[in-house]
Order: sequence, then C-alpha cells, then structure tokens
Amino acid sequence: MRGQPTPGTRVRLTDAFLRNTGQVVGGEAFARWTVVSCPCGLCQTGRFVAVDQPSTDDPDRSRHVAVANLEVIKPRPQYNPFPKSAMRKFHNRHED
Ligand SMILES: [Zn+2]
Repeated sequence: MRGQPTPGTRVRLTDAFLRNTGQVVGGEAFARWTVVSCPCGLCQTGRFVAVDQPSTDDPDRSRHVAVANLEVIKPRPQYNPFPKSAMRKFHNRHED
C-alpha cells in the first residue's frame, strides 16, 4: 500500500506478505483490522499504522503493522436478491 491509511480504514495483510512469511494458513491470514489514530513516533514516519488490536509485547499499546504489508479491504457489493431487471421481468410476466 502507498501512503498511510486513515483511521477507520479496514485493512488486512497482503497475500504477498503472508506468502513470504509462511502465514497463509493460520490466524494472521484471516486477521482484519481497523486503523486507529496514534501519535507515536513510529506512526509519524508514515511507514506504520496502529490497528485495533493490542500489541502482544505491550497490551496497553495498539499493535503496529507496516503499511507496506497492508491492503485496504474493499467493502463487498451488497447482494440484492431483487435487482430491478428481475423485478421487471416478474411484473411483465404477470401483465401478459
Ligand atoms: Zn503508533
């Protein structure tokens, strides 16, 4: 990812990173986080962001993840069981 995601952005580790670190199977592969604002020096560099998970080293602090290893989770398009086109067909059939 280029640039630092803003707080509230939903992120996950990239597939490339998980492959490189052998974490394709396991918790990390399915970890999803929300970026939180953090004033620390690490975040000031723009190379790391804090996420809504406590750090394993220091539970009082947020976990920090390298921005380069993150990608934004795109919201899934909502499934619409009644798209307009299908409803039109339905109505047409009954008007015949
Ligand atoms: Zn920070």
